Amino acid sequence: MSYIGRFAPSPTGPLHFGSLLTAVASYCDTKANHGKWLVRIEDTDIPRIYPNSETHILSCIDAFQFEPDAEIIFQKDRLAIYEQVLDQLKQQHAIYACQCTRKMLGSNHIYAGTCRDLNLDFAEQAIRLKVDDLLICFEDRLQGRQCSNLKDDLGDFVLKRRDGIISYQLAVVVDDYLQGITHVVRGADLLDNTARQIWLGSILNYPSLSYMHLPLAMNGQGQKLSKQNLAQALDVSKASELLQQAILALGQPNVELNQPRIMLQQAVQQWDVNLIPKGIHLTGSYL
Ligand SMILES: [Zn+2]
Repeated sequence: MSYIGRFAPSPTGPLHFGSLLTAVASYCDTKANHGKWLVRIEDTDIPRIYPNSETHILSCIDAFQFEPDAEIIFQKDRLAIYEQVLDQLKQQHAIYACQCTRKMLGSNHIYAGTCRDLNLDFAEQAIRLKVDDLLICFEDRLQGRQCSNLKDDLGDFVLKRRDGIISYQLAVVVDDYLQGITHVVRGADLLDNTARQIWLGSILNYPSLSYMHLPLAMNGQGQKLSKQNLAQALDVSKASELLQQAILALGQPNVELNQPRIMLQQAVQQWDVNLIPKGIHLTGSYL
């Protein structure tokens, strides 16, 4: 089996314990399958980039002694590539310009297709991808079969915002394809993005991917760890201890405290996907 996996953090805040779970799981799953492990920084949403978080991500990669199998790529250097794909989608008549303001859309999260047939000029408008009335299903390795009808759940969705920012959905799909990614291992908070990404990938004729969405670590208040609720930044001076906690939280056999590189090697040897807790949330609480 050929396996190319990836860890793709967004620098919208420092990495926290939940990010470490994702990094460890994607790394171990890749290496246990003799695959290549890549790192990609998802920094297209420039207004949301948090000061110094890119530096923190890179220092964590070093401190936890993860060894990416290729140079780390930054999405903000690749905007011309995403624009090319938008041109391709335009030629396929798969996208259209939308002039609706946030105010016009109101609180309705399902886009009604208001601008679909207006043939608006693309300049300085949001760009939406047409969705069909179709059930999209995939088999998640951990969460089981997942199905969603994008027309009912979401409507035509944005690939480029009016302010010119390329959407997460577009950049992820294009880069997973261009980097040859075969297996996606990430947090369950991204589970409901997957149908959008599968749909876009199918329109672009990209091969389908294998997905595994990990349960999310919670804080003491029962909230998922996130940048929004100020999860504590990973302390690189405690890399070995944090790595051990992450491996245990993933349900894996213990590894002896050592240099992170040695601990990761042991975790790869012992890696068993069947031991990862099922469900969307981890029951224990973590820093
Ligand atoms: Zn519109």
